[in-house]
Amino acid sequence: MGAGQAGVQAALNLRQAGFAGELLLVGDEPHPPYQRPPLSKAFLAGEMEQKRLFFFAPELYAEHNITLRLGERVASIDCKRKLACLRGGDTLPYDRLLLATGAPPRRLSIPGGDLNGIHYLRSLADSLALREALRPGGRMVVVGGGYIGLEIAAVARKTGMGVAVLEAEARILARVAAEETAAFMTRTHESHGVTIHTQAQVARFLGEAGRVTGVVCADESTFPADIAVVGIGAAPAVELAEAAGLAVDNGIVTDEYGRTSDAHIFAAGDVANHPNALLGGRVRLESVQNALEQGGAVGRVMAGGAQPYAALPWFWSDQFDVKLRIAGLSQGHDQTALRGAPESGAFSLFFLREGIITAAECVNAAGDFMAAKRLITQRRSIPPETLADPQTDLKALLRAKP
Ligand code: FAD
Ligand code: NAP
Repeated sequence: MGAGQAGVQAALNLRQAGFAGELLLVGDEPHPPYQRPPLSKAFLAGEMEQKRLFFFAPELYAEHNITLRLGERVASIDCKRKLACLRGGDTLPYDRLLLATGAPPRRLSIPGGDLNGIHYLRSLADSLALREALRPGGRMVVVGGGYIGLEIAAVARKTGMGVAVLEAEARILARVAAEETAAFMTRTHESHGVTIHTQAQVARFLGEAGRVTGVVCADESTFPADIAVVGIGAAPAVELAEAAGLAVDNGIVTDEYGRTSDAHIFAAGDVANHPNALLGGRVRLESVQNALEQGGAVGRVMAGGAQPYAALPWFWSDQFDVKLRIAGLSQGHDQTALRGAPESGAFSLFFLREGIITAAECVNAAGDFMAAKRLITQRRSIPPETLADPQTDLKALLRAKP
């Protein structure tokens, strides 16, 4: 259930792994399953046709004998009787159930929060509504300097809007990237005319005739707005799991095979809190890579396989002419190595823990990113000064015996 990136991949892999029984994909959105990354990038900018968002033509699902039930929401799960109950009243019996319900945006509950002109972005419908509202010369205030906020800021600025980003932390990208990377992205945005305000405690929205006209912070600084966008993070959609009595803790708790606390129910994608042997702990990841690879792995397990999921997480973001690519998780690092100069517009920052490379943030450095993914997966120990030396050929390091 949940016809997004993880749900679709699981369904396809169930078939590829030989599952021949009835396979139903239930999703509450009306569209055929689609990819979300372009919603804050090329599609939002009007540079990509809607039909290119869809993963597959509807016929592919039929070819694989996957029944799509779109525009239908699962309202409850009866674990004892093994039934998924739809909001419309239908009940769907299951032998095995996958919860791939994703992570919808956190809402900002402050005065004025329900005014028109305040946007959130998760779905195709949200992206269309936001695209419609972009106006050259208009003023946009973005609350939240994470991926969503910054990608939207870049698109809006390119369409000729004035854009102010309000971030609660001392810097942007605080959850997802290092200080050096955030500083580079701040300079990039500012050089394109976006203003970034950190330590901004957004207190209320101003409005007139039911429409947003501005955003006011706790220190009474006021930012006029024709539209506001809120991108303050996502929260896993665990309500169904919780009501069904499954173990939930920052997502639906699974084992390395994607099994929840009920042996007939699995979870994957943004909603799943899972152990990852490669990372040495539990994680809940919000990324396409994880949804695809974990969704696929759990699909194979549901078909009878026994391979645990433990892939290296990676992420990317496009903002103006910058391609930021991140491999691994940098938390807990004790050393870094900067390769290349940020002023040149292309550099990579490597993170090490106890001498082993654990993550890399690569700005306009595709080659470093490709090499970093493999160096991290191989748990390679390379001195920081070697990584930082631009003369070091990372590909040659890969070829050399660990
Ligand atoms: P989703 O794709 O969110 O799918 C879950 C689906 O389940 C949704 O359609 C939801 O409506 C449905 N659902 C929920 N509850 C029910 C129910 N009760 N009944 C029926 N259906 C239900 N990641 C990257 O790695 N790189 C990027 O550049 C990137 N850009 C992004 C840009 C945007 C604007 C957004 C919103 C996300 C972006 N992401 C990006 C994150 C990435 O899209 C997600 O990590 C990925 O989609 C997660 O897949 P999922 O299947 O777990 O969840
Ligand atoms: P995010 O990366 O968690 O960023 C949200 C930012 O907003 C954080 O820096 C957060 O700071 C800040 N914030 C929180 N409350 C705030 C407030 N009241 N006022 C001002 N700032 C506030 O999440 P996101 O950018 O909203 O993204 C949502 C989802 O979309 C995630 O799943 C993300 O992975 C996905 N997405 C991914 C990409 C990509 O991978 N390129 C692109 C777009 C979207 P705190 O840390 O203090 O809370």
